[in-house]
Amino acid sequence: MKEIVGRFAPSPSGRMHLGNIYTAILSWLSVKSRGGKWILRIEDLDPQRSKLEYARMIEDDLHWLGFEWDEGGLDGKGPNGPYLQSKRHHFYEEALDRLKSTGLCYPCSCTRADILATQAPHESDGRVVYKGTCRPAVLPSPYIEKNRAAVRIAVPDEEITFTDRIKGMQTVNLARHCGDFIVRRGDGAWSYQLAVVVDDALMGVTEVMRGDDLLLSAAQQIYLYRLLGYTPPEFAHVPLVCNEKGIRLSKRDKSLSMEYLRAHHTPEEILGMAAHRASIIPTSSPISLLHLLEKSKLYFSILNNSKF
Ligand SMILES: [Zn+2]
Repeated sequence: MKEIVGRFAPSPSGRMHLGNIYTAILSWLSVKSRGGKWILRIEDLDPQRSKLEYARMIEDDLHWLGFEWDEGGLDGKGPNGPYLQSKRHHFYEEALDRLKSTGLCYPCSCTRADILATQAPHESDGRVVYKGTCRPAVLPSPYIEKNRAAVRIAVPDEEITFTDRIKGMQTVNLARHCGDFIVRRGDGAWSYQLAVVVDDALMGVTEVMRGDDLLLSAAQQIYLYRLLGYTPPEFAHVPLVCNEKGIRLSKRDKSLSMEYLRAHHTPEEILGMAAHRASIIPTSSPISLLHLLEKSKLYFSILNNSKF
């Protein structure tokens, strides 16, 4: 049987909060309850927002809570490193060359204002759909380099279907959902979609468990997996943790940040709070990670066949 490999991939743009711990617990339990391997990857693609000191704090907070990772982290243990995205440009470069060789990539110099000007009124949910302004008339066609242009990849007007372990069957038409999307920005920064696919594929990740704000972006990733000749992992998107006002937790919620939580609670109390929110335990009582692992075996057998 193939080894189960999961990962936790935080961005070091601030201290973790209870929502990150919740995702870490679920992904760790999901692989550990089946004897799998858990990777810690630092997603520091954004040089402006990412800081090494935050990555160190993430590791320190995880250790304090009792987490150990089999691969990854700042010291880069394991055969698939480096485990910091900022050190993986050569892998992304190689993947981009392969995408360009499909003839489906093209340069785009549109500004955000240009793209917004082409939006239809029904796209007022905040989603921006690129209308293909710079798309060549005929595809596939060779990529023509253009200075400071973003690289977009053309998407087909057809449905991509996948089964999310938690949310069930999903059908997304990328042409309608987002249009041709960026794989490398005009300033040279890599898109999240490209980096996450390359990293998960090369690190042998078989299960991606993360917040459900990324549910539909899985279709973009599956499309890239196909073009690059990789097998997509199993996706499992968990509901985001909200505050008492029903708003998704962010780094601004100080009372749920690890800084505050560590000053006021034991590791077991914090794990209990997060596990209770995930409905793994019926009350918010203190519990260790190992104890949670025992409780979670049944939970994950149910999770495989249910929806949150
Ligand atoms: Zn354009």
